Amino acid sequence: MGRIVVKFGGTSVGDVERIENAADKVVAEVKRGNSVAVVVSAMSGVTNQLVEYCRKISPMYDAREYDAVVSSGENITSGLMAIALQKRGIAARSWQGWQVQIMCNDVHGKARIEDIDAEAMNARLDAGEVAVLAGFQGVTSKNRIATLGRGGSDTTAVALAAALGADRCDIYTDVNGVYTTDPRIVPRARKLDKISYEEMLEMASLGAKVLQTRSVEMAMKQNVPLQVLSTFEEAIGSDYPGTLVTKEEDIMEKQVVNGIAYNVDEAKVTLLNVPDVPGAAAKVFGPLSDANVNVDMIVQNISQNELVTDMTFTVPKQELDRTLEVVGNIKELEGTEIRYDKNVVKVSVVGIGMRSHAGVAQTMFNALAEKGINIQVISTSEIKISVLVSAEYKELAVRTLHAAYGLEADE
Ligand code: ADP
Ligand code: ASP
Ligand code: MG
Repeated sequence: MGRIVVKFGGTSVGDVERIENAADKVVAEVKRGNSVAVVVSAMSGVTNQLVEYCRKISPMYDAREYDAVVSSGENITSGLMAIALQKRGIAARSWQGWQVQIMCNDVHGKARIEDIDAEAMNARLDAGEVAVLAGFQGVTSKNRIATLGRGGSDTTAVALAAALGADRCDIYTDVNGVYTTDPRIVPRARKLDKISYEEMLEMASLGAKVLQTRSVEMAMKQNVPLQVLSTFEEAIGSDYPGTLVTKEEDIMEKQVVNGIAYNVDEAKVTLLNVPDVPGAAAKVFGPLSDANVNVDMIVQNISQNELVTDMTFTVPKQELDRTLEVVGNIKELEGTEIRYDKNVVKVSVVGIGMRSHAGVAQTMFNALAEKGINIQVISTSEIKISVLVSAEYKELAVRTLHAAYGLEADE
């Protein structure tokens, strides 16, 4: 008998029929002799609606109250899932984050889980009960509800799996696995049977929303085997129909490039005529870091006249207003012109094989050039290359690169 954590995303619990369908999967796992903890998201669209309510009343809302509001979607589904399981003759109860307790830091809106006291839940699971936990939420040491950032139920599931010492964490969603790229953009994307934690982490952090980045980070650190699979297909997790996210050693065939990711949530900021003196970058990026702005790609041009230079960087779109305010208030930048562009997409190629293969970047640049796609910013790391291009090229760039690296599934 194994212990597993299964998580159902928003679409998978999008209405009452879908909650019942998800409950059937849980029952099937229990019948296989497994002890099961379930993590649920809010019904699809609910979190967006709750966020919108907060913004409508006040764009400058109190983040603690925002969390009190947006965490509530998951409360509804956890209760409904428990009722659906009880109807199927399974002993089940719902748990909210504060009841477990899922302890978080107090960075409201994107809190991190610090500790889970799973003792009470463990005892109930040992006694044969199914636990249904509301994802995305926890409680702070100040006794306030906190949420884990959009897509955070994935992280709840992995954290719970680690705390319970589960054998596996199954992430049920609306696609049947992790693909070489978003199958909604490239219909010929290929499903991967396995992907390493490292590659999945890059794919997620570069925009592949199928798993929240922190969930992969945690799975890797805590060695939790993760499976991504479909809620809408017959097979259950114990049949292993999905994609396994696992250790690099477990992957026999290492591709040079394994996937293409894109992210439309960043904006480009350009500073013209920044004084070209030692410490200029620190003057810009220090205050941004103090303001909790996550700066991503950075380029600084060679100074034309040795007095001033230009700097370009990207920030999350939702942090753009804060960025413009912070940069506008830096007194050393008084003569600097600030421009921004929200119409950009970051497209990335990811693969562990890149460590030992040259020429990956050249293939990318040639393929994009052939389609007349202009590259605005480039950044690289050991296993990825990212380029920033105009948003209108999103689909063309993703498709072109997917084909250029031969990632397509056979017809
Ligand atoms: P859930 O609500 O179940 O958490 P999400 O919408 O967060 O589901 O994540 C699933 C979506 O991720 C898919 O519908 C798909 O469009 C998208 N996606 C992006 N990149 C990939 C990828 N490489 N493989 C699979 N799905 C991807
Ligand atoms: N309901 C939350 C969201 O939409 C968390 C999640 O679904 O993972 O972001
Ligand atoms: Mg998700």
